[in-house]
Amino acid sequence: MKKSIIVIFALLVFSIQSYSQIKIVTTIPDLKSIAEQIGGERVDAFSIATGYQNPHFVDPKPSYILKLAKADMFITVGLDLEIGWVPPLLNSARNAKIQKGGEGYVDASINIPLLQVPTSVNRGEGDIHIYGNPHYWLDPLNGKIIAQNIYNALARLDPEHQSEFQARLKKFNETIDVKIKEWESKLAKYKNTKVIVYHNEWPYFEQRFGLKIVDFLEPKPGIPPTPSQLAKIIGIMKRENLKIIINSPYFTSEATDLVARNSGGKVVTLATSVGAYPSIKNYFDLFDYNVYQLLSVFQ
Ligand SMILES: [Zn+2]
Repeated sequence: MKKSIIVIFALLVFSIQSYSQIKIVTTIPDLKSIAEQIGGERVDAFSIATGYQNPHFVDPKPSYILKLAKADMFITVGLDLEIGWVPPLLNSARNAKIQKGGEGYVDASINIPLLQVPTSVNRGEGDIHIYGNPHYWLDPLNGKIIAQNIYNALARLDPEHQSEFQARLKKFNETIDVKIKEWESKLAKYKNTKVIVYHNEWPYFEQRFGLKIVDFLEPKPGIPPTPSQLAKIIGIMKRENLKIIINSPYFTSEATDLVARNSGGKVVTLATSVGAYPSIKNYFDLFDYNVYQLLSVFQ
């Protein structure tokens, strides 16, 4: 008897709580993590992509449509990063609130100082970075802009709790400021270290922490490494005495290992998103992890 009362009470509390929470669906876990930092217990967030998936290519499963149909807010990286999978999901969800222009639609890229914006939009030769480089969340300072965009939407949808969101935003920004100093000072000794990367997804990280990306294993973003590209990279590494190749969790190690073997270099796999590895539970852990990994190959 007592047990069943407890269960009923628990269910009641749970249903009241979930009723009042803002249901958020994000495309990548980094946006989910930041939304949770700003929304606290007022939000119930779900990320479609996992942290070890390539965010350009995600399988749009039917279960995501259900999540989107019930969502109050949808947060996207934008810049066509998710062009292959978000439009079909949003269309099927038929939820006006979270369609582009709806009160719950958040393009996290608003006000981000973009890098590598081409002078003309061109999908030619399979390039998938047509509006500029979309991997902007890999600079923690851009995390503050993302947080502001999410805050604006939360304040709009739930004005009653605006001061709470504002306090959380302030705390998030302060934490970023403190952590950035810590990450920068740890990497300061290795400023301008030249590296090779697999996919062109590190320019924001490079700019913040002073690496020098020399070239990519992909001949163009989204085009898998070709034998001629790999031969070219091996040549550059030998000639310029480069030692470090950066891989991402969702690429096999075949190409990076081949280049390492033939150039005498070392491969380091960095996390591109929250959840890429079990220890990366939030947006701050992402940079803790990557700084630690880089230090271990630089030393
Ligand atoms: Zn990309």
